[in-house]
Amino acid sequence: MTDRLEVVAAEDGNRRVIRVAGRPPAPVKRRGTVAWYIPYTKLEAATVASAPLDAMWIDVSSSDAAYHAALLDIWGRRETFALLEHDVVCRPDVIDAFETCPEPWCSYGYANICHPECQDAWANQLGCVRFRKELLDAVPDALSSIPPEGWEWRNLCDRIGERLRAKGFTHHWHHPGVDHRGAGWCS
Ligand SMILES: [Zn+2]
Ligand SMILES: [Zn+2]
Repeated sequence: MTDRLEVVAAEDGNRRVIRVAGRPPAPVKRRGTVAWYIPYTKLEAATVASAPLDAMWIDVSSSDAAYHAALLDIWGRRETFALLEHDVVCRPDVIDAFETCPEPWCSYGYANICHPECQDAWANQLGCVRFRKELLDAVPDALSSIPPEGWEWRNLCDRIGERLRAKGFTHHWHHPGVDHRGAGWCS
């Protein structure tokens, strides 16, 4: 399922190594009330193995702004949804908690983050987060109001977070944190 490299013959008699993209699993029929999405540019085996079976995978490798385009589309559907980023490992209790917690904006921190206080600096992170419909309805332009210079995926979470907080919403942390393959930051 993950990408693999393959040596192929070139027309001129030389050879080249190409990358053959893996494919994520096709989503099964929706199991709960939360629509799960996994924007990805690569496939991590641990994420694939842990992901909700009904999650829809979205290939955002075409552009640095593709994550914004994907979220703009999801936001416009105005239905409760969760995001799992491609380097985050999900768990069954996470799926249950997002299904049942009544808070509008729920998020899991990262179990392997450098320091607990650093987690609070990442309160807008989108690695494992769920937004309820009431929040989408209250801030329908959270994505569409971001100007093009804010579309780049690295800073997108803060652009969204500041718009939600301006309307009085606050993230609700859930514990224990999820495993994040890229964690480390200040250490
Ligand atoms: Zn919650
Ligand atoms: Zn730190």
